[in-house]
Amino acid sequence: MGSPRTSASSAWRFAQRAWDLLHADSAQSRELAERALAEAERRGDEAALGWARLASGFHLLYYGTAADAAEELGRAEAHFARCGDAAGRVLCQAGQARAICRQGDAPRALAHVLPLRDEGLRALRPDQRGVLLNTIAGCYSALGESAQAFAYMFEALRDAGSHTGGGFDVVLHCNLSHELLQIGDYEHALLHVSQGLARGQALKNPRLTSVLWINRVIALTELGRAAESLPDIAALLALPPDPSGRGRMAPHHETLAIAALRAGQPTMGRELVARAWALGDSVPPDERLERACATALLALADQRPADALQGLVPMMSEAANDLGAGGSVRVRAQYFGVLSEAQEAAGHVTDALQALRQQQRLQRLQSQLASRARYQAAALQSEVIRLQQRLDRHDAHRRRLEAAREELATANTELRHQVAQVKALQQALVEQATHDPLTGLFNRRHLNDALPTLFALAARDAQPMALAIIDLDHFKRINDEYGHIAGDQLLAAFGELLSGHCRRSDVACRYGGEEFCLLMPRTDAAGARRKVQSLLRRWRAQAFDLGGLRVDGLSFSAGVADTLLAAHSPDALLKAADDRLLAAKREGRNRVGVAA
Ligand code: GH3
Ligand code: MG
Ligand code: MG
Repeated sequence: MGSPRTSASSAWRFAQRAWDLLHADSAQSRELAERALAEAERRGDEAALGWARLASGFHLLYYGTAADAAEELGRAEAHFARCGDAAGRVLCQAGQARAICRQGDAPRALAHVLPLRDEGLRALRPDQRGVLLNTIAGCYSALGESAQAFAYMFEALRDAGSHTGGGFDVVLHCNLSHELLQIGDYEHALLHVSQGLARGQALKNPRLTSVLWINRVIALTELGRAAESLPDIAALLALPPDPSGRGRMAPHHETLAIAALRAGQPTMGRELVARAWALGDSVPPDERLERACATALLALADQRPADALQGLVPMMSEAANDLGAGGSVRVRAQYFGVLSEAQEAAGHVTDALQALRQQQRLQRLQSQLASRARYQAAALQSEVIRLQQRLDRHDAHRRRLEAAREELATANTELRHQVAQVKALQQALVEQATHDPLTGLFNRRHLNDALPTLFALAARDAQPMALAIIDLDHFKRINDEYGHIAGDQLLAAFGELLSGHCRRSDVACRYGGEEFCLLMPRTDAAGARRKVQSLLRRWRAQAFDLGGLRVDGLSFSAGVADTLLAAHSPDALLKAADDRLLAAKREGRNRVGVAA
């Protein structure tokens, strides 16, 4: 993550994300960096270019060659210099120090990175400081100064504070196991390898995994249990090449070769030695020493002690160097161990003894290193445990939150369902309270509620309102002749006729039995009569099939009144209409009577 910007371009965001994902998902990190680069180049966005190249450069450090990484980081640094991003510049220089270190010049690497310390701690955010401090730790480690290496790792861990996600803990296990190998604490190194592998399962970072495997191979070989490392060797050899096609993933064939030969696998050892030599001469000193050891062990397995010595002896002075010149004490002790085996096999007892003494001297040096670093190593290890507990708690908390959120969502869905049910029920109750189920019209109760209101409205607006009471003629006969069900069928049909031919402002009710009531706001008696007469015509014209029998020519009688005539109360209006209905019946039915 970089310094905050007010309006972040998408290129810049891609680049930041690439940097953040460096450890957690190296392939995606690389992809994002490429995208950011393409976009930033189009826009000439210096900061985005810097961060994209920074992520890309670190990816090269892990998956490509140190020289390519240094070149890319140099380009990134130029972008940062142009846009004045101090944090980016410090990170570039830290990456360059790593590249120098990987090329075997640890003193120069340390000289490059140490002066950045103070400025870096000011310019970098806590999560970025880890990169700088771990780089310093790596340089000290390469110089054989384990105590300093542990101390800087510890500081990196402390400084990163709560920003320790994204695979930082796995990186620590990696570095920690490496450094424990340097001081000869192979058991603890194995422990951190296992923990790192377990925690690295969530990451998509094949390089971290491969480094952990290599560290386990070294620890097991040093403990005289090389045969147990064969599965790791197989896994390392089976690793696909880096998907980005950026070249090799630090294969350490010389280390694997020593393990295979110690495990009594000369065929595999021969193959690995050949691969180690395929890299040519531009390999760091430690790798050169290990390659010589592997070659010598192969010669010894072939009963060629003279060949073994021929490869080893020229490197003796380089291996005898004391601290300060750099290089792994463990690797040099290993060299003298192999040299003494070769001298012994060649029958040179005195030289064998000499080599053994050198090995012992270096092992004493290693144990001095260990005792000097003991305090820092222990502090770091307990801090790593604390970090893991924090991450675990964080994970558990997140899982609990997720579970709770899921539960809440389920409860919400249930609740919504229940609310919907209650609403539907209420709706049904309202419907039942105000409607007649057979015809779907309003019922008498609703009429009783609505009539006074509409009556008052009509009076206030000085508008007429008409009311008609409709009674089906001779309905008893229908029931008698065709049965009650047929009667219901006709009542429902009449309901449909009413609701289908009324205005939306009209209120059509089933008044009771075969009687209906129609309230017509803004209509006078004459208009209402025309309306009801048209209903009568339609009703008479309708034909029905009642249990297979055709019935038509049905009629009704109706009485109509309006508020112009019955002005003083709703009851008066009802009575006036009812009186007209009775009159219509008396006058022979099948007609609409209007109060004059
Ligand atoms: P009128 O022309 O004088 O009105 O004769 P009518 O037979 O229609 O009148 P009456 O009041 O004598 O009979 C009303 C009949 O309506 C009696 C009853 O069986 C029938 N009726 C009332 N409510 C229902 C109902 O919900 N379903 C059915 N099928 N018939 C009903
Ligand atoms: Mg009746
Ligand atoms: Mg009737």
